Formats: sequence, structure tokens, C-alpha cells
Amino acid sequence: MLLRMSTLFLRTLREDPVDAEVASHKLLVRAGYIRRAAPGIYTWLPLGLRVLRRVEDIVREEMDGAGFQEVHFPALLPREPYEATNRWTDYGDGIFRLKDRKGADYLLAPTHEEMFTLLVKDLYSSYKDLPLSIYQIQTKYRDEARPRAGLIRGREFIMKDSYSFDVDDAGLERSYQAHRDAYVRLFDRLGLEYVIVSAMSGAMGGSRSEEFLHPSEIGEDTFVRSPGGYAANVEAVTTPVPDALPFDDAPAAHVEDTPDTPTIESLVACANERFPRADRPWTAADTLKNVVVTLVHPDGTREPLVIGLPGDREVDAKRLEAAVSPAEVAAFGPEDFAKHPALVRGYIGPQVLGAESDSGIRYLLDPRVVDGTRWITGANEEGRHVFDLVKGRDFGADGVIEAAEVREGDAAPDGSGPLELARGIEIGHIFALGRRFAQALDLKVLDENGKQVVVTMGSYGVGVTRALAAVAEGNHDDKGLVWPRSLAPADVHLVATGKDEAVFTEAERLAAELGAQGLDVLYDDRRKVSPGVKFKDAELIGVPTIVVVGKGLAEGVVEVKDRRSGDSEQVPLADVVASVV
Ligand code: ATP
Ligand code: MG
Ligand code: MG
Ligand code: MG
Repeated sequence: MLLRMSTLFLRTLREDPVDAEVASHKLLVRAGYIRRAAPGIYTWLPLGLRVLRRVEDIVREEMDGAGFQEVHFPALLPREPYEATNRWTDYGDGIFRLKDRKGADYLLAPTHEEMFTLLVKDLYSSYKDLPLSIYQIQTKYRDEARPRAGLIRGREFIMKDSYSFDVDDAGLERSYQAHRDAYVRLFDRLGLEYVIVSAMSGAMGGSRSEEFLHPSEIGEDTFVRSPGGYAANVEAVTTPVPDALPFDDAPAAHVEDTPDTPTIESLVACANERFPRADRPWTAADTLKNVVVTLVHPDGTREPLVIGLPGDREVDAKRLEAAVSPAEVAAFGPEDFAKHPALVRGYIGPQVLGAESDSGIRYLLDPRVVDGTRWITGANEEGRHVFDLVKGRDFGADGVIEAAEVREGDAAPDGSGPLELARGIEIGHIFALGRRFAQALDLKVLDENGKQVVVTMGSYGVGVTRALAAVAEGNHDDKGLVWPRSLAPADVHLVATGKDEAVFTEAERLAAELGAQGLDVLYDDRRKVSPGVKFKDAELIGVPTIVVVGKGLAEGVVEVKDRRSGDSEQVPLADVVASVV
């Protein structure tokens, strides 16, 4: 494959784009791989597309090699399947929604659990058909609140998503492990360092979920690890409860004066009194979504709870008031309760939570910081409880509770030594989903005894475009990109310099010879461009080997440069091909 710089659809830039903060974003734009089309949405240029295809090929080879089969779904999907699982609502502002000419609702899919489940339901009906793992490499859409860092958090991005279908838990465990193994191989091949961290609090029971985090300062995830091998996203760390529960610190008036069923006014007043916010007062419109807490009973037993309102459920004063009434509690979908055994039904005011547990006990919750750790105490007439707090995902309002503060040097929850804190980019995520989707969409098969059983599923994602950016992030210097050979847009960047026709004739011959060896060559055959500009472009583009045909030709040598080390040597013409293959 020969690409000629004279005709290549490319403009390199000497200046960083103004909106770019991280190296991969700056360099991919400057070197002419991508162009911004809209916030978080990028156009792929020829060089970028070549790297993207190489990443996709590696992902595809590892998926195929593990026996998973490729399919391809549309991105434009009807509302109904997402309605059935409540995700049409749960996703809130996170998805792009649109209407067709008849007024029917559609969305651009953020992920495809529903459609895969329905496809399998459509075609399969027996345990004999399972296990099955199918995948796609496909464009996803998420209306991210803060698209940033170029490809790392896009609003349109490419994901490899797989789904496994099994008849029982042991099968799911095998499918999960097969995906985990395939991910290890594919990230190794991409040359991306990763830490596999648990992504769910152990307290949440049954399901299993792990993330592949690429350690990087610019990552948005914080994880902890211990020398003993414990590794978890801080979102999943359950902070240990201190010996002395901080009940006694709670101002008595707050606890005792609280009516059993708080009203919206009492909550907002309480918030403004106890947690005043500098810029503006709390109002009933401030919400906190899907916070996972561990309820610690006075006898020491723990139960996982999710509190808050999923997705875009509007919390206005009326709704807040209504949400404490048992009638309105019923409006929470069954899947909200199915997710966790003891979901607290309720609502969240500003930093003050009202909740009702499955057993019907109502709480007023009071989050505070004690010794640098955030705690929530809950009060009701049965007594006081302490909740230790674990961040829920993607909750919106500012000023609300953050993840439990885990500090450097804390003991790991499994006792395996002091925790080290680091940041990472989530490049992959594997998730033992269990029966939630199959249940909601009624995917059942006949088991060996002729009985209908609900299928158990897993879902597994790789951020293809994000992984590409992560590679760029870790492979550059102050002059430009430095691709590993397996992902580079070409194997050799051949540069012809000067005005001497003999140089161009020889370079042309070399290009053909390298091509005959199966190498992809990017040939800078431009006539009116100075050597300095050509070298700068070669360094910016980042092909691993640069071959310069120029003055040395008179002595029968060309320069062969290693982009990464900067080392160069004069190589006799006859040996050039051998030196780069
Ligand atoms: P994040 O926590 O970064 O928002 P996520 O947990 O929402 O990611 P998943 O739903 O687990 O993402 O999707 C699977 C994979 O898709 C992620 O592990 C990540 O690599 C990739 N991904 C998710 N969101 C984006 C995005 N906005 N841009 C690029 N890649 C993304
Ligand atoms: Mg996300
Ligand atoms: Mg995540
Ligand atoms: Mg994830």
C-alpha cells in the first residue's frame, strides 16, 4: 500500500487546536488524523481511519478467536425496547432522542443490551442453543454532560460491545471469564497497560463487574490498589465503618425535631441551615441520583441500598412531596427494586435525603463529613442508622455528596495492605448482568427438563476510539505522535528531499520495493516542500520508521531513522529493505 503525501488528503497544523487540553487530542488534530465536527463529535481523515481500522482489526481478531460472532445493529432504534427496561427514562439527558415524521420516538443507542436480548429471543428457544456470545463494533451515541479530551469522551464514539447468553450461573461465569481473557489479550496487543479493577461494591452481591483502567493522569476514574492485589474503582470501595459511630456528633435538634415524614419545605430549610451553599440556596429542584449506600444496622449487619431518583425523573416540589407517600413509591419501576435487594425507595433533596426502606421504615438522612470521611446518618423513630456512602454513577446536581473519601494509605477492605490511589482511563468494562434484561424482555429458553427458564446475560464493552486515543496519549513526544508499529498508519515514512531528480527516481524505486515486501509506505514525494517541513511532518505523523533519501544518495546511502529513539544510521541502498522489514 502506497500513500503519496503529494495527493494525500491531509493538512498538518503547527498550532494546537484551541479547545484541546490533552496530548492525544492536540496531536491527532494537528497531525491530520481527525477533525472536530461538533463538541465530542469527530470526522476521520485518511490517516486516522487507517489507525482506527488497525485497532478494530485487533479487537475483531481477539473476539473471533474467542469464538464470539460478529453482528451489526442499527444505531437508530425505537423507544419501545428501552421503555421495557425503563432505560428510556433512566438515561435521562444522557441519550439523543428524536421523532420520526409520524411522531414516534426513537433514540440513538448508547449501548445495545435490549436489542441483543430481543434478537436472541427472536431466534433461540432452547438451552441447546446456548451458550452464545455475539458482538459488534459500532457507533454509539451519548449526550455526555462534558465531552472532553477529544476522542476520550466523545458524544459519538465507537464501541465494541459483546453480549453473552447462558442458561445458568455457571455458564455466565464461564462466558464472563472468556471475555475477561480475550480483553487481556487484546489490550496486551494494543500495547495498553491496564489494571483490572472491581467496578462494583462487594456488598452488592451476586453480580460481578470489572473495569480495565489504563493508568493515566488524565483519566477520569480514580482507583485504588494494594500491594496484595486488591484493586477497585473508588466508586466500588466500601469504606469501613469506624469503631465509634458518629451518632453522637449529630445535633440532637436535627434528629429529634424531624417529623417522621419530612416535607419538602422541612428538607429544603434543613439543607439551607445545615449545608449552606455559597452561590445560591438549595431548592427542591436540586437532585441527587442513584447513590449507592451501604446501610449499617446498629447490630453491625450491612445491606446495600440505592437511593435517589434514576435518570431524568424530574424532581419538582410536588414530586418530592408525593415521593414519600406510599402511592408514589409504587411509581418506581420493579427493576429499580430488582437491582438491589433492599432498595430504599425515596427521594433526595439537597444534601438531605428522605427515604423509605423495603420494610417500610422512613428515614431522614443526614450526610456529614467526619474525620475526612463522608457519612450519612439516618434517623427515624426506630433509632438511628449510619450509612456509609459509595458514589453512584453519574449523578448530576452540584454540591451533592461525592464518593466516599478513600485515602492513600488506608487499609484495603480485604486487609491486603495500604491502598495506593491512582487515576485511569476506562478502556474496557465487563459486566455479569444476570437476568435483569432477559426478565424485562422475557427472554426464556426451555431447559433440560422442558421448563422455561430466564436466560442469564453478560455485557462487555471496549472503547475502541477511546483506546486509540489512550495509545496516542502514551506514545508521543514534544514533536508529535510515536505509533507502535502494529497501529501506525504506515510501516515506513519515506522522505525524498532536495531538487535532484535522481533522488525522486530512487525513492520511487524504494517505495515499490518496500511495497513488494508487504509494507505500507507513506511516501513524501512533494516537490515544492522544504526538507525541514517534511521532517517536521514525519515527526508529527509518527510512523515508526523514517527513511530519508537525499544528499547521501551520491555515496549510495540513505538515512534510516527510528522515530521513537531518534537514532539514525546511514544504510547502503541495497540493505534498506532488510533494515526496515
Ligand atoms: P465512563 O465511565 O468513562 O463514562 P461508561 O462506564 O459510561 O464510561 P460503558 O457503558 O461501560 O462506559 O461503555 C463501555 C466502554 O465504552 C467504556 O469502558 C469506555 O471505554 C467506552 N466509552 C464509554 N463512554 C465513552 C465516551 N463518551 N467516549 C468514548 N468512549 C466511551
Ligand atoms: Mg459514562
Ligand atoms: Mg465508567
Ligand atoms: Mg463502564
